[in-house]
Amino acid sequence: MEKFLKTLAAGFISHAYIFLGPDEKVLHQAKLLAKTVNCENSELAPCGYCKSCRKISNGTHPDVVELSVEGASIKIDMVRSLIQSFAERPLEASRKVYIIRQAHKMTPEAQNALLKTLEEPATQSTTVLLTDNIQLLLPTIISRCQVIDFSSAAQRSSICAETRQKIAGIILEMTKNPGADPGSMARQIAELEEDPEQILEFFSSLYRDILVVKTKSRAPVKNEDLTDAIRQCAEKITARSAVRALDSIFYQTRAAKSRGNQNLIWYNLLIELQEAV
Ligand SMILES: [Zn+2]
Repeated sequence: MEKFLKTLAAGFISHAYIFLGPDEKVLHQAKLLAKTVNCENSELAPCGYCKSCRKISNGTHPDVVELSVEGASIKIDMVRSLIQSFAERPLEASRKVYIIRQAHKMTPEAQNALLKTLEEPATQSTTVLLTDNIQLLLPTIISRCQVIDFSSAAQRSSICAETRQKIAGIILEMTKNPGADPGSMARQIAELEEDPEQILEFFSSLYRDILVVKTKSRAPVKNEDLTDAIRQCAEKITARSAVRALDSIFYQTRAAKSRGNQNLIWYNLLIELQEAV
């Protein structure tokens, strides 16, 4: 995740993120994000010892707000009181950071309330939703966030253009033709000489783009070169299906990380993606 922090330090920060992974781990990453964008030693950000970094570590920074619940759900009132402070300027920080732990516990009403804020973000704030269960988030929420999966391998490089085309083609085939044989498509993926975790990450970025198109989000499509295929898929599947697909992809990513049988991973993934159509 070094690369991600470097992008932040360079000033490229989104208004909204979903950090996917176990709660403690993603909370740590969210705090690193808050420190990086607010560190007083920009060359070393996050330095960990300046006043801002220390306050964030101690949970005493007035502009880094953490929402967490003990109970079963995050209710609309809790989200509303958080949203009220979105409009206020930061007191000390250059950027306010709102961290919502176990964001999947937000009731649909609470998510809808938050959605309005994500659509019209305050310029000096970033919201980070932490979850290990993306399926419980509304498609409209997901499509407005940059999703970063911390449950998969940290080191990645991009996959080649040919592989990108091939996988987009497979997804399109599956959405257009529900009778397509998942076994033969699984073999095609297994034959690609790419790292399984990278392929899975690419899968998730495509489905996230499908959601962007599907929900008419103003967020940019990540895979611009594949806009055609993405639009065609978006016409065929529901937003809810795309979220189910994302959930399956993240599940198989965990299987890949624990070095599960690759053929089985692709086969199971394609069956699940097909069912999601
Ligand atoms: Zn610092």
